Amino acid sequence: MAHSNSGREIERLATLYDYRILDSDFDQQFNNLTEIASAHFGMPIALVSLIDADRQWFKAMVGLDVRQTPRRIAFCSHTIANAGQVMVVEDAYGDPRFDANPLVTGAPHIRFYAGAPIVAEDGAALGTVCVIDRVPRQFTGADCAMLQRLAENARSLMELHRRNSLLREAARSDSLTGLLNRRGLEKAIEHVLAAALAGKTCGLLYLDLDRFKHINDTHGHDAGDQVLKEVARRLQSVVRQTDLVARIGGDEFVVLLAHPVDHGALGQVASRVLAVCGRPITIDGTVIEPGLSIGGALAPRDAVVADDLLREADRALYIAKRGGRGRVAIAGPRVVGPVDRAAARESELEQAIDRDELFLEWQSCHDLPSGRVLGYEALVRWRHPQAGVIAPVNFVPLAEACGLSGRLDAWVLFNACRQGATAPAGQRLSVNMSALSITSGLVVPMVRSALDRSGLDPRRLVLEITESAAIGNEDKALEHMRQLKALGIKLALDDFGTGYASLAYLQRYPIDLVKLDQKFVAGLATDPRAQRLTQGIIHLARLLDIAVIAEGIETTTQADLLRKNGCRMGQGYLWARPSVLPWVEPPPAGG
Ligand code: C2E
Ligand code: MG
Ligand code: MG
Repeated sequence: MAHSNSGREIERLATLYDYRILDSDFDQQFNNLTEIASAHFGMPIALVSLIDADRQWFKAMVGLDVRQTPRRIAFCSHTIANAGQVMVVEDAYGDPRFDANPLVTGAPHIRFYAGAPIVAEDGAALGTVCVIDRVPRQFTGADCAMLQRLAENARSLMELHRRNSLLREAARSDSLTGLLNRRGLEKAIEHVLAAALAGKTCGLLYLDLDRFKHINDTHGHDAGDQVLKEVARRLQSVVRQTDLVARIGGDEFVVLLAHPVDHGALGQVASRVLAVCGRPITIDGTVIEPGLSIGGALAPRDAVVADDLLREADRALYIAKRGGRGRVAIAGPRVVGPVDRAAARESELEQAIDRDELFLEWQSCHDLPSGRVLGYEALVRWRHPQAGVIAPVNFVPLAEACGLSGRLDAWVLFNACRQGATAPAGQRLSVNMSALSITSGLVVPMVRSALDRSGLDPRRLVLEITESAAIGNEDKALEHMRQLKALGIKLALDDFGTGYASLAYLQRYPIDLVKLDQKFVAGLATDPRAQRLTQGIIHLARLLDIAVIAEGIETTTQADLLRKNGCRMGQGYLWARPSVLPWVEPPPAGG
């Protein structure tokens, strides 16, 4: 069997990991390669598959919605054992190695497979470029040669990816200690915070050497550098390997605990760091005592955005120093007393997210002429233990007002992607995002991690944002929207026509779709002005290559009028009210 634990396999994996490519984002260059392969050979499925220890992971894929499968069942794990040869399976039904394979007997129903190994310079076969069909086929010698050339291209792209990653790492590390620098830390925090928002608490410690200036002044800068290096070494030895250590200023360090911690555990780690790093250091026979103080904070309890988390920990550090040096202080839990109903709701809402009292309903979006379902929009609801089901208008604004919108958005995004991955292939899934997540940039790592964890094809995901998302923060919003687009997802402008900046917005931001507000649709049959505005919007959107979805369509008259005015998509009670997993067939009555 291809899967072996021999020394060569370990070396192969080391080579693969050195490319830093597993679990990386989608990359247009790799996507192009699979698209070319699929088009050239006329095959519905084309993949760049990398064989990890126990899985195959797809750097790029056409025609598949999952991002990985167990290695055990991967055709490609046979290809990489095949000594540099293209492996062709003309009909899996007739091949005893594959005829009972779940990828053959079930989705994606492989019949034909051809894979060329991607071989690294040291000879290690890391994965394949492969094409797959659901019917038996033949593959000529010329086809094999072409596939092999694509695999060589994939190898070159992987080299490029490695070089870029190394450059990025260098730009993100501190040259004296080799730790992350501030920029590197900020990136790292974003990733860890995305996981924190999905329910895993994480912690951050902010350290400051107590009398570093004094050390520099009395022992010289070289001694100062030695102290910093030694503290860096000790820090790394005292935390887990997966935790991140950064030096973000002259004598300021940060430890990001990337594993779940609570208040108590964070305090314990801080005390251990204090004890180990505070021990005397001997430099050229001189004993130096590097006293330090530590402040700590927890996400998402104290903050959901990188800047805020650092600020909270820094504030705790200040408290530690005020209490006398050589101390630890952890930010205190926010006191939320049920002073009045709103405050009570606020703390209830925080718990609701943790306790899974939220749930999603989906409303279908339809092709206007034919009525065909094109996709679904996720709409959040809160099943309150006493008050019953609460509509989003009654708690989404509250979440925004009390700093919970990041956690709410993260919850919705994760769950929408997970559920959405079970919707029929090709259908688009829309998710509403609060303005704050867009301006803070939190949305970018959130989307990345939701896509990765759910395996949802980014091309199926649409984020719905409102015009207010950019108010007062245009450049930031634009930058984050571009980053989102680079992930391969689409952006929709929700409630279009209700805000003040609509038209300028369409020109400036990379919007793919606008959702024409219900207000226009409601006025359509009676109000000539609404009709003219609607026509204008549809016309303008078409010029800008932006699709229009009309919302809140309740009657066939409205649907007909919209269609006549050139609108191709619609959503509303005419077809369906929002419901739980509408694409799942209800069990037959009585069954
Ligand atoms: P929206 O994104 O514009 O969603 C459309 C709203 O119109 C939904 O209300 C939907 O149930 C309702 N609707 C759909 N078809 C019709 C129709 O034919 N007639 C009428 N009268 N109404 C229709 P819902 O679910 O109460 O959501 C209200 C708003 O709350 C949403 O407006 C959206 O802005 C916000 N929201 C909902 N879910 C989320 C979420 O997960 N995150 C965030 N940040 N906001 C959300
Ligand atoms: Mg919406
Ligand atoms: Mg809307």
